[in-house]
Amino acid sequence: MQLAVKEKLSKIKGLPIENIFLGNGSDEAIDILFRAFCNPGKDNVIVCPPTYGMYEVSANINDVGVLKVPLIPETFQLDEATILKSINATTKLIFICCPNNPTGNGVAWNSIKSILEKFNGIVVIDEAYINFASYKSLIPELLNYPNVVILQTLSKAWGLAGLRVGMAFASEPIIDVFNKIKPPYNINVVSQKLALDALDNMQQVNSWIKQIVEERERLRKEILQLFFVEKVYDSEANFILVKVETPELLYYYLTQNKIVIRDRSKVMLCEGCLRITVGTKEENDLLIETLKKYK
Ligand SMILES: *Cc1c(COP(=O)(O)O)cnc(C)c1O
Repeated sequence: MQLAVKEKLSKIKGLPIENIFLGNGSDEAIDILFRAFCNPGKDNVIVCPPTYGMYEVSANINDVGVLKVPLIPETFQLDEATILKSINATTKLIFICCPNNPTGNGVAWNSIKSILEKFNGIVVIDEAYINFASYKSLIPELLNYPNVVILQTLSKAWGLAGLRVGMAFASEPIIDVFNKIKPPYNINVVSQKLALDALDNMQQVNSWIKQIVEERERLRKEILQLFFVEKVYDSEANFILVKVETPELLYYYLTQNKIVIRDRSKVMLCEGCLRITVGTKEENDLLIETLKKYK
């Protein structure tokens, strides 16, 4: 049955099924990357904070070391020189989240390319938010780089996080290893059936994506006008990062008004920042109205 989902994805992504792995969410693919390519207690991986927390959680569970090379402040681009200097003989994976969570920016292709060419290990490009971006997936680069693994998911643009269906795209030898490690029935048939239905409905998903991108830009403009907002970062995702004077107070005020966002103000390089997910037009209207009343 996974074959049917893979065949559908193969048509959509323009990739042979031999280059497609299906995971119990892309989080399973992240875990398998550690189990396949890292020796516990010996090897390490590079992550670039602030970024998706699961890379480090999964590294810890697998007893794999984490070398942290922070992104460049404010632009949140890769610090390519420091990444290259940090690589040592036991560095097996480098995680690049693009668009990045929680900052929302895309990552310059030049620096990804340079890392792909100079690193003798696997570069993981996490494209969980690619559907909201103004640029295209790096899937075509699979032909040029046998050491890249691209992660995507039905959890974000499709709104199907509960199904737990994620994908990894990579060269055939890497996908073969993934398939040897995964449990035989890692995705239940109900999820597979619903994933097939969702993938049959690309038009619907594309119209949702278009709406979210429009709403994101409207939200950015509206939020930028609020007196307590210091900065609204550009976003290629379905959320925006906003720097404010008093993040905790604003977060509390919103929860009192039954609006839940994410307080990222304690996260490295995100001091003062809140992460706001783009909602429906009605939800966004309510958010803006509520923010305008904040004193
Ligand atoms: C949500 C998210 C994922 C995980 O997605 P699942 O497919 O639900 O496991 C992976 N990477 C990033 C950056 C995410 O934000």
